[in-house]
Amino acid sequence: MYDVKHNLHQILDTLPQGTRLVAISKYHPNEYIMAAYEEGQRVFGESHEQELRLKHEQLPKDIEWHFIGHLQTNKVKYIAPYVSMIEAVDSLKLLKEINKQAEKCGRVIKVLLELHIAEESTKYGLTLDACRQLLADGEWRSLQHVHICGLMMMASFTSDHDQVRREMQTAADFFDEVKAKYFNDDEAFCERSWGMSDDYLVAIQTRSTMVRIGTTIFGPRVY
Ligand SMILES: *Cc1c(COP(=O)(O)O)cnc(C)c1O
Repeated sequence: MYDVKHNLHQILDTLPQGTRLVAISKYHPNEYIMAAYEEGQRVFGESHEQELRLKHEQLPKDIEWHFIGHLQTNKVKYIAPYVSMIEAVDSLKLLKEINKQAEKCGRVIKVLLELHIAEESTKYGLTLDACRQLLADGEWRSLQHVHICGLMMMASFTSDHDQVRREMQTAADFFDEVKAKYFNDDEAFCERSWGMSDDYLVAIQTRSTMVRIGTTIFGPRVY
């Protein structure tokens, strides 16, 4: 096995106070997750509904599962009963479906709005203007079973750290904008989810509160 415990502690040791680790366990077996769990890690992220369902069934119930992938509306009902946070909400339609399914379960589900800032055109997420529009529209205020807790983004996949830094800084500035305008009285709106294996050190410098790291902990994924 990849030295999960060693890698986990190396990352935890570099994280400043106020930045939490979401251990991204997609495509990795339960024994890898348990190795991190035994070291005290409780927050894990997955991006496929079926894989998450199996792992949730098989693994300890005090794990907080974050759904980090692109979520189709017809899959929301399967994860709504237990998911801790849905990180990549990129439409009002999806937000409303999460609200509907959470209501059926008698839950309030935490979500993040996913921003599209990176230059690649294939990535999901709301442009800054689309996100402004969604918030200005105001319908989200009537959704009692979702709680918008912050923003999430993926930076461009590039070795150009200046570009990555610019993109993350844009997200951090945008967080301040919407925090001031819509969430000033809401302490729960505090999360900035950016930073992965290759760029989490930049993320820490651009006020990330949640880094999502897979490969550096668990090794390369086997698809
Ligand atoms: C897979 C994934 C990660 C983790 O990527 P690593 O490079 O393995 O650290 C983070 N965020 C999202 C949205 C992902 O899909």
